[in-house]
Amino acid sequence: MLWRFFTLVFSLLLACLIGWWFAGDHGALIGVVPGALAWLALDSVRAARVLRWLREGDISDTPSVSGLWGEVVDRARRVLRLRDQQAQQSKQQLQDFLAAIQASPNGVVLLDPQGRIEWTNQTAALQFGFDVQRDMQQQVSNLVRDPSFGSYYASGAYEREIVIPGPGSTASVPVKLSVQLHPYGEGRKLLLSRDITAMEQAEIMRRDFVANVSHEIRTPLTVLAGFIETLQTLPLDAQERSRYLALMSQQASRMQTLVSDLLTLSRLEGSPLPGAGEWTALAVLMSQCEQEARALSATLGKSQEMTFSAPPPVEIAGTSHELLSAVSNLVSNAVRYTPSSGSVKVQWRALPDGRGELSVQDSGPGIAPEHISRLTERFYRVDRSRSRDTGGTGLGLAIVKHVAQRHGAELKIDSTVGVGSSFAIAFPANRLRYLPGADTSERPATESAAESG
Ligand code: ADP
Repeated sequence: MLWRFFTLVFSLLLACLIGWWFAGDHGALIGVVPGALAWLALDSVRAARVLRWLREGDISDTPSVSGLWGEVVDRARRVLRLRDQQAQQSKQQLQDFLAAIQASPNGVVLLDPQGRIEWTNQTAALQFGFDVQRDMQQQVSNLVRDPSFGSYYASGAYEREIVIPGPGSTASVPVKLSVQLHPYGEGRKLLLSRDITAMEQAEIMRRDFVANVSHEIRTPLTVLAGFIETLQTLPLDAQERSRYLALMSQQASRMQTLVSDLLTLSRLEGSPLPGAGEWTALAVLMSQCEQEARALSATLGKSQEMTFSAPPPVEIAGTSHELLSAVSNLVSNAVRYTPSSGSVKVQWRALPDGRGELSVQDSGPGIAPEHISRLTERFYRVDRSRSRDTGGTGLGLAIVKHVAQRHGAELKIDSTVGVGSSFAIAFPANRLRYLPGADTSERPATESAAESG
């Protein structure tokens, strides 16, 4: 301010001096007017520069002015810089916030008071089939065409979520979305969505499983109850009595087998994966299976030709009782489904890629190709009555598949109707240990070559 006053006085004095020089005392007085005008003009030019700079708002290109205008520029620049920093900060926060919502596994859509899409994350775009560029500012009710969503949107009652089919959902490949609207701000809405297809499928599977188990248990229970009633009400002779008791015992053991298979499955699902520290000798595994197979064949009154090839000194890393349960199921199936005149062959084979395969082949009825992919489903049977007659639970191959997966192994099924079937478990090389004395031909090609080199 002082500087401004000083420049004004200086300008006036200079103008007086020039006026006095040219026209004496009179001229000094007249010189005051142009002096004041010149000062005012110069000041206006500086004010105009400052004003232009403020209008453009480019804080990096500040005008070089001194005095009062210089201070105005300086203060304005500081205020503008602070505002710029705050704007940058808010922008960064908004970016971080949107990035967090983008990363959400659930769909998030922001709707304006007219129900138009203001913003959507990628998950919601995928779930609803929105085009992130094209569909901005479009009415959500025009894009989500399901009628139940339309009436939900219009109802204004958003306390509960609704389930709608996702785009491209079909009866064979259903897609289920759970969606809910949450009002916020002034008339705005937040649309949240979740893909619950897998959850719904798991729920359907759980319901089917419970229904199947109940059915499987109810059948022998009904038979048992019938026999008990007969024994209680009818005067039977000793022979009839013992026949009934034998039938009852059959049904009881059927239930026992079912419960035992169910427990095996639940243990497989609930226990940690088998580590690589426990080793099971192939010879022990095969000899136990052979004993069981021969005993079962005798119980069923069969006399198939049974071959168990001599096992090489190989050990498999994995839980013994799980491996035994898997191989026993395969062998028991082969024995149960193969007629007396048929054959069952169990053998070990080293595969060229380093894996080792334990296969069970039979000359039984074989399985039609359309059933093969479903055989490992729980309670799936090609021939219900044949399975039950031979004591099957429909859970055997589900157990085998589980055990194979837990040991990183692959279950291979080959079958031809009228010729026979082959079920093989191929163990990965890192789960096999060849003991000293193993014939090199029993080892994978790579290992034999490395040894001879
Ligand atoms: P199950 O207890 O009924 O044998 P599995 O899960 O072991 O149940 O097998 C599923 C179905 O696969 C069986 O019901 C049977 O129809 C078919 N199957 C399994 N193994 C054989 C086999 N070796 N020969 C013919 N069919 C078989």
